[in-house]
Amino acid sequence: MEPPQESAAGGRKRRRRGGARNRRKLSSSSQQAPPFPEAAPPPPSSPPSKRRRKDGTGQATATPKRGSTSSLLDKMRARLSGGHFRMLNEKLYTCSGQDAFDYFKNDPTLFDVYHTGYQEQMSHWPEQPVNVIINWLKSHNTSWTVADFGCGNAAVAKNVKNKVFSIDLVSDDPSVIACDMAHTPLDQSSVDVAIFCLSLMGTNYPSYLEEANRVLKPGGWLVIAEVRSRLDPNNGGADPEKFSKAIIQLGFSLVSKDMKNKMFILFYFRKKEKSKVAKSIDWPQLKACIYKRR
Ligand code: SAH
Repeated sequence: MEPPQESAAGGRKRRRRGGARNRRKLSSSSQQAPPFPEAAPPPPSSPPSKRRRKDGTGQATATPKRGSTSSLLDKMRARLSGGHFRMLNEKLYTCSGQDAFDYFKNDPTLFDVYHTGYQEQMSHWPEQPVNVIINWLKSHNTSWTVADFGCGNAAVAKNVKNKVFSIDLVSDDPSVIACDMAHTPLDQSSVDVAIFCLSLMGTNYPSYLEEANRVLKPGGWLVIAEVRSRLDPNNGGADPEKFSKAIIQLGFSLVSKDMKNKMFILFYFRKKEKSKVAKSIDWPQLKACIYKRR
């Protein structure tokens, strides 16, 4: 852990310099390509408190404000949970859905750590894909039944009139179905819209789309938002054409693709009325959005 970086005299100052060195090391390691590449750095820390007073000896000393101690603790906590978030994020992108499910089942509190970090990252995006999808749903039929695969904090269900099955690895909300989304309890051909908003994380992501295909009615919509860098062949990401082609082979037609957002791509597919799954589908590997190790 980094030493405290608070303002005070003497030894504290020495440790602060060490801390600055460590921070430099950290920031050079964060040339890592983050999952949310454009995420802004955390707001600059407030300047150290240097309330000077004369003590009995007439020497000026600096004392930390009580507020600065708690904001320092907050900063340290934020740093720790940021690291924890990155670790969990990497885990989710590099294991199967079943392993992720078992992992969070063992310690469901990790899910809150993940989502606190996730929301922090997302708050820096100019536009949140989940809001684009919510607006799309609002502009369509409210009688459509929706399945939100990898719902996170269930923003879709909370913001539309439709009936929504919210699905995620962990649920502390009775309306969220906790399962590995490769195997949901939903009935076959029972939903009109399947959403994957930044949730094709597991190494077995095609099995999530196969599950969506199973639960979607013929003619149903498959809406996918994915991090742009995962589908950027110039940066080691998958070819978006190859990704679409694989989904078409699963029995869908591509209705439209929205590339105008800086951070994510949106795909709108519809399940064919008479859909037929191709014998073998060449699924591209989606680049994991992880921080590089030092
Ligand atoms: N769709 C939400 C949350 C995106 S974060 C939003 O846009 O705000 C990705 C979510 O997918 C996480 O909550 C993660 O737990 C979930 N997820 C990833 N793999 C999963 C799996 N195999 N089964 C269920 N949920 C999964």
